[in-house]
Amino acid sequence: MNQQSRDRLIQAALEGRPQWSGSPHPSSYGPTICAMLLVMQGSGGTVKKRYEYAGLSREPQTCPECEQVLRSEYSLGVHFNDDHGFDWLTICNKMPVSDEA
Ligand SMILES: [Zn+2]
Repeated sequence: MNQQSRDRLIQAALEGRPQWSGSPHPSSYGPTICAMLLVMQGSGGTVKKRYEYAGLSREPQTCPECEQVLRSEYSLGVHFNDDHGFDWLTICNKMPVSDEA
């Protein structure tokens, strides 16, 4: 995950923004949103563009908490958000840091 995404999670924590966890996610995005949608919001375009925008790897990831293998960094973030119930800052700290130019 890139710095822009981490900054968004930190900002959400500072604002005390309500965090969505679990499914189904509401189809219209109000202030309550899950962490991965927050970092992808505004990217538009294809899945590939959204991953690039947030700096998320499409390679499989192993959860450092429970060793479950997730199919991408996005899935890992959703797993942190929904299955572990981590808050904004915990997700920010636990997501892999992407290489940035
Ligand atoms: Zn896990």
